[in-house]
Amino acid sequence: MKNHIIFFSGGKASLAVADWVQEQHPDDNIVLYFTDVLWENDDLYRFINEATDKLQLPLLIHSAGINPIQLMFEKKMLYNSMIGDCSKILKQRVSANFLKRGKKPEHEEWRNRQYLRAEDFITDATLYFGIGFDEMHRAPAIIKNWAPFPVEMPLIDHNIWKDDVLKKYSIRQPVLYDYGFSHNNCNGRCVKAGQGHYKLLKDRMPDVFQKIMEQEHYLKICVSAYRYITDDKVPEDERIPDDIRETMLQELDDAFRDYFYDRAAKPKKYIHPAGSAAARYMEIKQYSFMKRDSKPYPIRDLHYEVEDDQQIDLFDIGGCGCFLEPYEPTA
Ligand code: SF4
Repeated sequence: MKNHIIFFSGGKASLAVADWVQEQHPDDNIVLYFTDVLWENDDLYRFINEATDKLQLPLLIHSAGINPIQLMFEKKMLYNSMIGDCSKILKQRVSANFLKRGKKPEHEEWRNRQYLRAEDFITDATLYFGIGFDEMHRAPAIIKNWAPFPVEMPLIDHNIWKDDVLKKYSIRQPVLYDYGFSHNNCNGRCVKAGQGHYKLLKDRMPDVFQKIMEQEHYLKICVSAYRYITDDKVPEDERIPDDIRETMLQELDDAFRDYFYDRAAKPKKYIHPAGSAAARYMEIKQYSFMKRDSKPYPIRDLHYEVEDDQQIDLFDIGGCGCFLEPYEPTA
């Protein structure tokens, strides 16, 4: 009996791959493997639960325990299409540590474990990814990254219709596809996405858009303050003394921590009491998730340009590079 591990992202593609693998290898040991970044749309969980139940395949869920915005807060960085290791830290590192080194993350959960046919489902396993023709450019990096495991991408090599598989199991597609998103990732708020993507988020999920606009805004304030306090370009004799600097950094962290961990509606300090992310006078240009003409383009700028009927680049979709970047676990 051979082992097969399907990287199950919660997208239609991964369901199609799971069905194909089960049809090809009905008597083998197959596991659906989902690395949860804890920032997903609720409907993604409905979809993966329905898939594991109806395909009668075990689902293993691993998580690093924090989401991308919390990771950025911990690192005091704002990610964008050019920099950012959220998928590397929250997905690749978690899965590579587990599959290549046998190291489990803090958070592990099984669903339908009774369908597991052998306890050792890793040795000599073939790994499967739901990469289609439109993402073929990602294939070489993924194959190289997962060596020595053999990797297969059935959607590239075989004629598989994702929507037919949905019909076969009577599973409703994740709601993000209904809204027009091309991926079911991070509840439509991928920090590497572009103008067209965020415009769609504003149109279809205004509450989510409002919240990510606020989070970007407060993260900018936090990161700017952090950079100011730790700036090592200041002449040595004018720098903040080490003990005061440590106190300031601690206060800064305390001011924002509850907000980014969803325990408070707003950061405690550093915010003008009358201020909000949408207030035109509160403007910090230096950092942003999106870039336009290689310059920071904050979500609030897009918000105003859309409100004012200005032109934005709807073809700038960008977004998820999850599992593209190489990650090699270290001993
Ligand atoms: S979808 Fe985007 S924000 Fe979410 S983990 Fe992947 S790269 Fe990061």
